[in-house]
Amino acid sequence: MSARLLDGRAIARTMLEETRHELALHAAGRSTPPAIRVVLVGDDPASAMYARRILKSAEGVGASGGLVTLSGASAAGAVRDRLHELSSDDGVDGIILQLPLPDHLEMEAVIAGLSPEKDLDGIHALNAGRISRRAGGFAPSCAEAAVQILLRSQVPLAGRLAVVVGRSNVVGRPAGLLLTEEDATVTTCHRQTAALAEQVRAAEIVVVAAGSPGLVSGDMVRPGAVLIDCGINVLADGSVVGDLDLPSVLPVAGAVTPVPGGVGPVTNAVLMEHLARAVRARATLGREGSLSPVTAA
Ligand code: ADP
Repeated sequence: MSARLLDGRAIARTMLEETRHELALHAAGRSTPPAIRVVLVGDDPASAMYARRILKSAEGVGASGGLVTLSGASAAGAVRDRLHELSSDDGVDGIILQLPLPDHLEMEAVIAGLSPEKDLDGIHALNAGRISRRAGGFAPSCAEAAVQILLRSQVPLAGRLAVVVGRSNVVGRPAGLLLTEEDATVTTCHRQTAALAEQVRAAEIVVVAAGSPGLVSGDMVRPGAVLIDCGINVLADGSVVGDLDLPSVLPVAGAVTPVPGGVGPVTNAVLMEHLARAVRARATLGREGSLSPVTAA
């Protein structure tokens, strides 16, 4: 048996096409196209590359995009104020702050400037709360992408055993919540998990978001399991690999996402879906009702 490759690029194309239509519909009454801003603090080359890809996706769905760059030496207050300014700008529908931030910046202090309604990547605590309470909200795009791939590949989730490896705020934790929402029975594994292999071997569905190349190998995988790889690891030779040890996993698994070409492109497509949601919400509210960054809906 050899695992089916779940083609993230193809799934992303379909999603972007759907979003392009939806955005055209919702933006019909507006004088300007839907607009996003990607905020980049510092000059990390990987973050800059992701920012360019997001802007390209935005262009593809008919949105206007702009990159806002801030010095890596910026104080938390300066980044927060810039986010607040963009959040208050009627001409901006969605904002994506590229993570990770430089070490000296405290996430929560910075994010306080961001309107939850424009927080397309679901990094604001209010969106995390809404997701965990099933009250709408934007989920972190990578976590949602992992679940979208499963749904769009017709992988049954209800009643099935899913293991998430990783418990970060941006991937592992929200992925567990979203899988639970799809009626899977979810186990979360992390650095302190005893017998990781045993846990993973029990799972029919595995979402790996550990940032550790080759962490999950074929001997840890239940035959026929579906594996979603959220890892993006740049090796010393410049090549990019995920958290799955593909050569040993492929003969055992039922389906896997490759890296690159799996979760990555779908993550950008999810961000564009979120843009469409933000635009739709604003159209419903009316432009005069532009949302304040500090009030909850
Ligand atoms: P990401 O943003 O991809 O989720 P983070 O570095 O923020 O990455 O988090 C990594 C997560 O993966 C943590 O929750 C950590 O406990 C988990 N993790 C890392 N290495 C291992 C490992 N060897 N076994 C199990 N979990 C791991």
